[in-house]
Amino acid sequence: MTTLSEDTLIFNALTPEITDMKIVYTALEDFMKIKRENDSSDRFNVILFQGYGPNYLNDFTLNPENILMALKSLEPTIEPANIASGIFVAITFIIEVYKRISQKAFRLIILTDSGTLKIPEKYIPVLDNLIDMVKNMPFYIDIVRIDTDDPGEDKKLMELATRCYGNVHEINDLRDLESILEVLALKREIPEETFYDKEKKIISKTNQAFYINLADDVLDAPKKETCSICFETDKTDLVQCPECDIIAHRSCLAQWADNSNIGILNVFRCHNCYNLLKLDRDYINKVRYGKIMAQGNIQIEGLDLHEYQQTIESEKTPEIVQAEDPLKETSVGETDFGMDEEVKETKFFLCPNCSKMITNRYKYCPNCGTKLK
Ligand SMILES: [Zn+2]
Ligand SMILES: [Zn+2]
Ligand SMILES: [Zn+2]
Repeated sequence: MTTLSEDTLIFNALTPEITDMKIVYTALEDFMKIKRENDSSDRFNVILFQGYGPNYLNDFTLNPENILMALKSLEPTIEPANIASGIFVAITFIIEVYKRISQKAFRLIILTDSGTLKIPEKYIPVLDNLIDMVKNMPFYIDIVRIDTDDPGEDKKLMELATRCYGNVHEINDLRDLESILEVLALKREIPEETFYDKEKKIISKTNQAFYINLADDVLDAPKKETCSICFETDKTDLVQCPECDIIAHRSCLAQWADNSNIGILNVFRCHNCYNLLKLDRDYINKVRYGKIMAQGNIQIEGLDLHEYQQTIESEKTPEIVQAEDPLKETSVGETDFGMDEEVKETKFFLCPNCSKMITNRYKYCPNCGTKLK
């Protein structure tokens, strides 16, 4: 068993008219405090619904103050939450974060009461399909039910939580929330053999294409600089990470890929920014077996997660973003993206241009406008 640094997304699906939010905020403050004391690299985010859809911070934050501020400032305009949409947004967001950070377990904690909207039956297969895509990531869903009496909905939520290695926790008295959250603040023990085999580094066959699509191709380096991996002055075949612009020999990155891949031989993390990168599989094999001579040896150790998180957060304070409800049938702007009314079964894929997760209901990517097949 092992534990990882955790990024926790708190989905506030509570109703201020029903549940006393003051008590909830105190319990959440306590929850985040326990987690921070246990591991200062744990981060947090929050989702809650407004009239047009979900709100959340554009990145996880190390600072619980940011979470409490978002919760309190958005409380006056909070709307009953659509759990299915919230989970959709949470998972697509976590995929975006996974692309940029390593060594993390992701947690989704959903707080519900009797005002929370039920999950329409037709969205269950949609959610199952989505959860399938993240089954190779350490991702956990826990759901807290505060004073609800709806066995049918409990069962649905239980099935969802169980699929993500979590649980449904029912309480009748709001004052018990604090002790439930204290339990949830404990780190998840991750069996070594789950998610991917550490030795063989294999991601399930059906999910490989998804991770390969998520990774960025390296770019040809526009300027001739010293390689950031071997520091040799040879300036041939230099490539660049599209996220942080760091330059390295293609052959040095291929060697780096050998020990930083995510369970797929040619999908690995940038040594300077954790961004998911990919190289040609044959090329990596050729370097590995000496058919292509590497230009140098690895002279670096890679990033320190704690330091790296501090740096990114000090450069950019997280801001609240407003998203469109992805499952809302009559959401504004649908026609702009050419929503396909004929589509019966919602499927997910990544936009080939910007890697944003979208559904097959779109004819144009809502993020970058690329025409989709
Ligand atoms: Zn090099
Ligand atoms: Zn990079
Ligand atoms: Zn796009």
